[in-house]
Amino acid sequence: MIREQLAAAGGAAADLIAARETVWINPGRQPFARAASALPFRRQDAAEAAARLRRFAPLLARLFPETASRGGLIESPLTEIPRMKERLRTDCGADLGGGRLFLKRDSDLAVAGSVKARGGIYEVLKHSEELALAAGLLSGYDDDYTRLASPEARRFFAGHKMQVGSTGNLGLSIGIMSAALGYQAIVHMSADAKQWKKDCLRARGVTVVEYAGDYGQAVARGRADSDADPASYFVDDENSRDLFAGYAVAAERLAGQLSDAGVTVDGAHPLLVTIPCGVGGAPGGIAFGLKLIYGDSVHVFFAEPTQAPCMLLGLMTGLYDGVCVQDAGLTGRTHADGLAVGRPSGFVGRIMAPLLSGEVTVADGRLYGLLRLLWQSEGIFIEPSACAAFRGVLALPAEAMRRYAADNGLDLDRAAHIAWATGGALVPPEQRRIFLNTRLPL
Ligand SMILES: *Cc1c(COP(=O)(O)O)cnc(C)c1O
Repeated sequence: MIREQLAAAGGAAADLIAARETVWINPGRQPFARAASALPFRRQDAAEAAARLRRFAPLLARLFPETASRGGLIESPLTEIPRMKERLRTDCGADLGGGRLFLKRDSDLAVAGSVKARGGIYEVLKHSEELALAAGLLSGYDDDYTRLASPEARRFFAGHKMQVGSTGNLGLSIGIMSAALGYQAIVHMSADAKQWKKDCLRARGVTVVEYAGDYGQAVARGRADSDADPASYFVDDENSRDLFAGYAVAAERLAGQLSDAGVTVDGAHPLLVTIPCGVGGAPGGIAFGLKLIYGDSVHVFFAEPTQAPCMLLGLMTGLYDGVCVQDAGLTGRTHADGLAVGRPSGFVGRIMAPLLSGEVTVADGRLYGLLRLLWQSEGIFIEPSACAAFRGVLALPAEAMRRYAADNGLDLDRAAHIAWATGGALVPPEQRRIFLNTRLPL
């Protein structure tokens, strides 16, 4: 049914069902000022999350000494990558002209080595704060949060479970943070999760439960197990407002980095950002945060694998989480394991509908080429999922993208482009070598 409708619609819809790379421009985007008033998230939600992370910063500096140099804030560098810009022109025909290209390196975020260090850690901290306040371990928001590293606090958290279903990176983030506080951490992992991620968690005392099926199954079982236990908390990737708020904090931190780099963002200087998308929580939260700061001057695109474009399918059809990629005849299987999601978040699609500029899809084979290009040109390693972020730049010569730029009066010679690198730091050396040598047909 859905397949026939999409085929008849042609354009990006027909590309989607044929698993062809495509560019989709969102016809539902609205001026931010108008869209914002109807959103279920407010500036206040992002501000509260930022404040909570500041309260926890001294504790994080204690638990994870690698964050001490930033005062316990988990933040990643913004790096200009001019050699990659040049290679994208010479090797891929994507000419940015006078525009500047940056890599937002959430691939190097402390603790979890992926974008999940934002939302995942935030949600664990928020829940822990609630428990600790109720139990009297903290007297209030102005208490010394390093008290939560005491043996007494660890014994308290050891009486609680933290559970999550994951394709890999969310499990790493929740598992590592929960184990560090003393929780019994249980990560339910789908079949496509990498062995090294399971090993990494087990080495930290996290219980990893493996499933033969996909991500949806791991989440369903994890949720059911957790709901049956009053001392257990379940991080619900598909519906979590806390994850979303944690991701949104990225934007205010980025704003400082952009101004340090001498980048102006305004009506005459557009900012184009491409973020890899799985269920949508991470890119959605970041996009929302960016819109709060830059409004209509920022143009956010999501990137998804050609076999797992669940957010694009939901937006295009207006069915959101009421449709999955298998309904469109796609497999949901991809080498981009962080993006191997068949059904989008239960609420993020509706938030993105008036905010997002569009989506690009990317073939698995292209991810490895981009991974090598970045490694050779800049000496920076990111995982295959994260390479989807470059697809936004690659799509610039496409007819749909040129029309978008023209319709919106974008002067691309004065633009800044950000490829949001979502993961990579924890990939072990042996696995890196495999990725760097993988070649797939496009
Ligand atoms: C999780 C993840 C994403 C996307 O995040 P969602 O919240 O699932 O949309 C992108 N890249 C990597 C590497 C990830 O681990």
